[in-house]
Parts: sequence; structure tokens; C-alpha cells
Amino acid sequence: MTINKVLKKFVGVNEIRINSLNLDKTADGSDKLVIHVEPYKSKQCRCPLCNNDKKLPCYDSKNNLCTWRALDCGGVIVELQSNTPRVTCPVHGVVTAAVPWAFHKSRFTKDFDLTVTWMAKALCKSAVSQYMRISWATVGRCITRTRNYLEPDISNRLNGLKRIGIDETSYSKGHKYITTVVNHDTNTVVWVAPNHGKSVLDGFFEQLTEEERESIEVVSGDGARWITECVQQYCPQAKRCTDPFHIVEWANEALE
Ligand SMILES: [Zn+2]
Repeated sequence: MTINKVLKKFVGVNEIRINSLNLDKTADGSDKLVIHVEPYKSKQCRCPLCNNDKKLPCYDSKNNLCTWRALDCGGVIVELQSNTPRVTCPVHGVVTAAVPWAFHKSRFTKDFDLTVTWMAKALCKSAVSQYMRISWATVGRCITRTRNYLEPDISNRLNGLKRIGIDETSYSKGHKYITTVVNHDTNTVVWVAPNHGKSVLDGFFEQLTEEERESIEVVSGDGARWITECVQQYCPQAKRCTDPFHIVEWANEALE
């Protein structure tokens, strides 16, 4: 296997040419491997927003050297560098050409964004930020890009709801609340909004069509009156249940 093949495996993209490698230092003195790459000719000058594979005219005549952070290799920071022209798209105007290793407007590779998101599911943002050597805010931006890639239309989550759960939870040391709705059948959060109470939950039910509200069979939650009132108003056919988490919590409190 040639070093180019190894590097392509490492970068996680096949349709690129590796032109050169450089070992460098970051501003804080850490080792940094810079890999100079370019997409195959058949992948150059594409619009990053159009869902087609049409070659577009270049807008820039000069070189436009861009850098992307890739996943570290043995503790060494890795960067990809490539000349990336802007192209003129008849729909989206002048945009930086798409590259196969990164999402649009990202300065990180796709693998990097996906890895940060996977880690953020299990670790707090500060731990991810420290381990991946990125800022706290960048963790959020990696997650947003991954979500847009995996689920471009998040409103699909509201389709076909039958058994849902509603709860509120506090953050900022109990000073702020959010209300969440989960789909028990898919075990996913389908809706989140700041604050709690009936006027907040109204917003969820008002997003649903009449048929969608009628197809809800079960709504679980704690004993909050505002949940019961919303169920009575928007989906009176649904069974209003108390979820096991709160029943166990109440039983424990009673025993205490
Ligand atoms: Zn376009």
C-alpha cells in the first residue's frame, strides 16, 4: 500500500489527490502535519448547495488557499490545505466551491464534525472542547453541521406521532426551564422550547395538523395540570398517563 492510499484512508475521502506533506508547528508549539490535497478533477468547481454534480465556471482567477482541521494522528494536529476557488452558481450566486472532505462553510473535515458530535452525546461540551482542542462554541457548530447533514428537515420528527412524553427540565442552576416532547416509539426528542407551562406547550400542538393531533394515542408526563389541559384541548382522544419515572420519584419521596 502506498503512503497516498494510507493518507486517503486516514482523511476518509477517496476522491482526492495528495500533493505533499509538511511537518510544522502550531502557535503554541505543538506538532502539526499539513497535508496538501486537491479534489479529483471530476469533483472540482461544484456548488456546495446544489444537489447536482454540474461543473460550474470559476469566479476567482487567483489561488484561494483554505485550511481544514482533520482528526489528530497520534497526538499530532492534522490539517488539510487546498486551493479552493469560488464558483458562480446560477441559483446560489458566488460561493466557495464544494470539497468532498468538508461540509459547506466548515473549517473542519466531515469526520472531525461527526466525531465531535458523537463525543458530545456522552461527554459535557467542556470535556469535548478540551480533548479535541477546539473552543467551546466550536463544539456547538460541529454539532449543528452534523445535524443538518444527518437530518436536513428536522420537522419530519413530528410525523406519525402516536405515543409521546412531555416533561420540563431546569438548567442554569434551576433558573431556566425547557420543555421537551419525546416520541416513545422512536425514543427521540421531537420538540424543545424554552420555558414551561401551557402557553409553551400550545406551541407544540399548534405545529401539528388536525390529523396528526387525532393520531396521538398516549401522552405521558408528570402530574402537571398544564399538560392535562393541553391534552384535553388538542387531543382529547389520547390517554393521559403518568410516567414511571415520576411515580418512582413520588414513591421515594413519600418513603423518605
Ligand atoms: Zn448552487
